Amino acid sequence: MKKALYYIVPVLLTLAIGALGSYIQMPSITTWYPTLTKSSLTPPAIVFPIAWTILYILMGLSIGRLVAIGDMSIVRLWLLQLLVNFLWSVTFFSLRSPLLGLITILILVVLVFAYTLYAFSIDRIAGWLFVPYLIWLLFATYLTGYIYLNNSTAYTLSAANSTKSITITAPQNSQYTMPALPYPSDALEPTMSQETIDFHYGKHLKGYLDNLNRLIVGSPFENLPLEQVVKLSDGAIFNNAAQVANHTLFFDSMTPDSTTISKRLERAIIRDFGSVEQFKQEFSAAAKSLFGSGWVWLVEDSNGNLSIVSTPNADTPIRQGLYPLLVLDVWEHAYYIDYRNRRADFIERWWDIVDWRKVDNRFVDR
Ligand code: MN
Repeated sequence: MKKALYYIVPVLLTLAIGALGSYIQMPSITTWYPTLTKSSLTPPAIVFPIAWTILYILMGLSIGRLVAIGDMSIVRLWLLQLLVNFLWSVTFFSLRSPLLGLITILILVVLVFAYTLYAFSIDRIAGWLFVPYLIWLLFATYLTGYIYLNNSTAYTLSAANSTKSITITAPQNSQYTMPALPYPSDALEPTMSQETIDFHYGKHLKGYLDNLNRLIVGSPFENLPLEQVVKLSDGAIFNNAAQVANHTLFFDSMTPDSTTISKRLERAIIRDFGSVEQFKQEFSAAAKSLFGSGWVWLVEDSNGNLSIVSTPNADTPIRQGLYPLLVLDVWEHAYYIDYRNRRADFIERWWDIVDWRKVDNRFVDR
């Protein structure tokens, strides 16, 4: 009976710590984590609790074996790694800091590696019971490192297929920050001049962002992720929040690189528009005929069907439950410096700088 307790106590302890960690992670797993890119390697959210439950049980059994053998000296190291493990949930998921998360998980890897080596020197089974945990941690370290290197800005457009949204993470201290421009400001020349980017990104978008940050304080939308503000607000808060979200998607849909449409997206475009050429024509026609200021979108609905939507002013199809894949800004400020009144020329040239990789990333194809 006493021997069984050696196993039961640490298994229950790890599961309790794990449950607490999961509880802390939950809001981030649903709203923040899917906004981080590396979707091709990021497991679906359901994998995490399953994997961790198995790993925690193995972790408890390993120390149980060593204690049953009579080796108590290792218990402190085992407890320390469990504490650091929990700390990783706090730094990465609760504080949402990829840097602190990376530092914590690196320390954890060292501790777990030391434990595993020690365990092997006492009892091979106790050592092997820790190996899956160590492998999982190395994988998690790689993901954390990737996220740290590629998502250092406060908010990132979602490329995660699991959510299909343009979720932007909750603001820090109730203030939103500028999205990073994914290329130098002169990179889109001559199609879009540096001067246009400087004004459009640096002044127009910045203006909407500053307005939003001023208006949001004390409003019911304070501290909400931007997408939620766009969905729930109206009036001036909606106009500025939607313009920030729309522009974030717009600037994140262009590139100086020449990109091509993926096969799976091409198939869907052919299915819903007849051909890629036909799609571009319809999209361009919608952009040219949009009266006044507004946006033209390629959207996906919840059944995976593609369509073209025009919205006036700041309006956005996410209010209708649609998922934007691509957007073109046809407000005059988007082209007036480079093309003056020739909106049609701007639209035709704009296709050269569309980043089809980003469009493909956003496309889920249900
Ligand atoms: Mn604009």
